[in-house]
Amino acid sequence: MRPVIEVAGLRKTYGSGPTAVHALRGLDLTVSTGDYLAIMGASGSGKSTLLNLIGCLDVPTEGRYRLDGIDVGSLNERQLSLLRNRKIGFVFQSYNLVPRTTALSNVELPLVYAGVGRRERRERALAALELVGLTDRAGHRPTELSGGQQQRVAVARALVNSPAIVLADEPTGNLDSASTSDMLAVFDRLNALGRTIVVITHEDEVTRHAARVVRVSDGRIVSDTYSAWAVR
Ligand code: ADP
Ligand code: MG
Repeated sequence: MRPVIEVAGLRKTYGSGPTAVHALRGLDLTVSTGDYLAIMGASGSGKSTLLNLIGCLDVPTEGRYRLDGIDVGSLNERQLSLLRNRKIGFVFQSYNLVPRTTALSNVELPLVYAGVGRRERRERALAALELVGLTDRAGHRPTELSGGQQQRVAVARALVNSPAIVLADEPTGNLDSASTSDMLAVFDRLNALGRTIVVITHEDEVTRHAARVVRVSDGRIVSDTYSAWAVR
């Protein structure tokens, strides 16, 4: 399979001098198209830093990153945000929905930024909501939805651009076990459709769905295993 994420010698240092924090200390990672990867590790080990770099939300202090064959390090701010919009869908623990508008409008938002016309926006947003099983909630505001439903709206928003990769930072961290199962079913479906998924988690239930588990400790990868028992 073609690699979609190629990271080599990645370092990220926050601050400088005696108070500098070395969040990533030389990290190599290759992820193939269609892979389903779980990242685990103690709090503060560098997981979110890694995901933010992969998601082009931040730039490394050192090292190389190729996203879908594109050398991210050579891009300026504008090119980076274009690439992010086209290739990456991000899901956060805290949903990050716009509170005063409908689920449908929330899902349409990335398409507004991408300059997609009104009619196509609506069609694609509805298709994304259907994929996460929320067609009947399209007209609801976030406050009228459960946490699990809000997170699925966030997932629909993350995939409405047909991104090459879906990145999720502890997406089930605030969910009960039924909502977690719903969410994982959506990820399974996405992965079956060929999407690459990278999810940070500390929950065994999530890692059981992933095909590959990477463990991070103190800014380095300490293990990288493929699971034969992934639930599909
Ligand atoms: P994890 O997601 O595994 O909990 P993080 O990547 O968030 O870990 O953090 C790794 C280390 O980098 C921690 O020591 C954290 O305090 C530090 N860190 C993360 N973000 C910043 C930031 N914006 N400024 C300074 N230090 C940070
Ligand atoms: Mg984190």
